[in-house]
Amino acid sequence: MVGCAIALRLRDAGAAVTVVDRGEPGREASWAAGGILAPEVEAHGPGAFVELMRAGMTRWRPFAEELRARAGLDVGYRDDGTLQLAFDDDEAATLEARARWQRGAGVPVEALGAADVARLEPALGRPVLGLRYASGHQIDTRAAMRALVIACTRAGVAFVRSEVRRLRLDGRRVLGVDTAEGPRDAAHVVVAAGAWSTQLDGMPLPPGAVTPVRGQMIELRAAAPPVRHVIFGAGGYLVPRADGRVLVGSTEERVGFAKEVTAAGLGTLCARAARLCPALAALPVADHWSGLRPASADALPYLGATAIANLWLASGHFRNGVLLAPLSGEIVAALVTGAAVPVDLSAVAPSRA
Ligand SMILES: Cc1cc2nc3c(=O)[nH]c(=O)nc-3n(C[C@H](O)[C@H](O)[C@H](O)COP(=O)(O)OP(=O)(O)OC[C@H]3O[C@@H](n4cnc5c(N)ncnc54)[C@H](O)[C@@H]3O)c2cc1C
Repeated sequence: MVGCAIALRLRDAGAAVTVVDRGEPGREASWAAGGILAPEVEAHGPGAFVELMRAGMTRWRPFAEELRARAGLDVGYRDDGTLQLAFDDDEAATLEARARWQRGAGVPVEALGAADVARLEPALGRPVLGLRYASGHQIDTRAAMRALVIACTRAGVAFVRSEVRRLRLDGRRVLGVDTAEGPRDAAHVVVAAGAWSTQLDGMPLPPGAVTPVRGQMIELRAAAPPVRHVIFGAGGYLVPRADGRVLVGSTEERVGFAKEVTAAGLGTLCARAARLCPALAALPVADHWSGLRPASADALPYLGATAIANLWLASGHFRNGVLLAPLSGEIVAALVTGAAVPVDLSAVAPSRA
């Protein structure tokens, strides 16, 4: 999703753009994602991370409308809010501390007792405390990916199905890439290869700068949505879609590039679902999958110039690449074309790798 968002913005700025992907674009981590847009739930303290996430969040509603207009597809944008639940006193203490720093940072967060949560979402289990974020939204990631590829194609972005093997360099300048089908020249190269971004031959990054973190998911199917909010708690989350699908996520596993769905993973997810919302235990499992999050050491993405002229990096979005995709598109397109960049980039510079 990150690469296509950049491609669209570069094309809009008048550049000739080719996306080279060895698979169908958007079918790796971006296809696996829940589509949660939760800038505050994902943040563990004030600072650059939450500021970037909040900036990313402001881009999504207009981006969803833009995709509908340009591709004719509804991407399932919903603004019902996010609930984060604590089921015991330790978890409640963690949430209370979180609410304190967030209020101090101007984040609108509402603390709810058990009775308030039950009134708001009667199907949930019985938490001792809940935090409600009206700012937490969701999109249907796969619908958004389909729409983004259509929008790119209609705008004139070329798509080439091929594996990029290495960067073609002339000293400290990039000349293009070598693909499985042969060389391709390019004035600029943007590497947005997700968890595989450090694997390209010639990439000026240490191999550990981006590492894969597997996330497994299951999809349950209900006749009608059992909850309205995106629900966080019990170590995971529920994402209710309008048509009754409920996504249950997700594991965080450092197992290299293995993409299997495991018995242990499924067991963990089913137990979380039942803890958060007991009625889910009776629902059929409609689907399951996994994806590889591209993780940086500090959970912030790498967005910007590398040590090689005209070689740009857009990777390491870890748990929030969907949320940050439209903003990443704007940032990288602005950098490549020499336009004004919309946010402070010091925290996301690739030079920190
Ligand atoms: C289970 C799960 C749930 C998630 N939930 C959320 C969520 O709710 N909200 C959120 O914001 N984020 C979420 N994320 C994180 C989000 O999915 C990622 O941060 C984001 O998708 C990263 O996008 P990307 O474009 O960088 O990577 P990817 O989507 O992985 O795309 C990388 C692309 O590069 C291509 N590629 C790689 N190497 C090569 C090569 N050598 N040659 C050619 N092509 C190559 C791949 O084929 C792929 O298409 C989730 C992730 C997972 C796994």
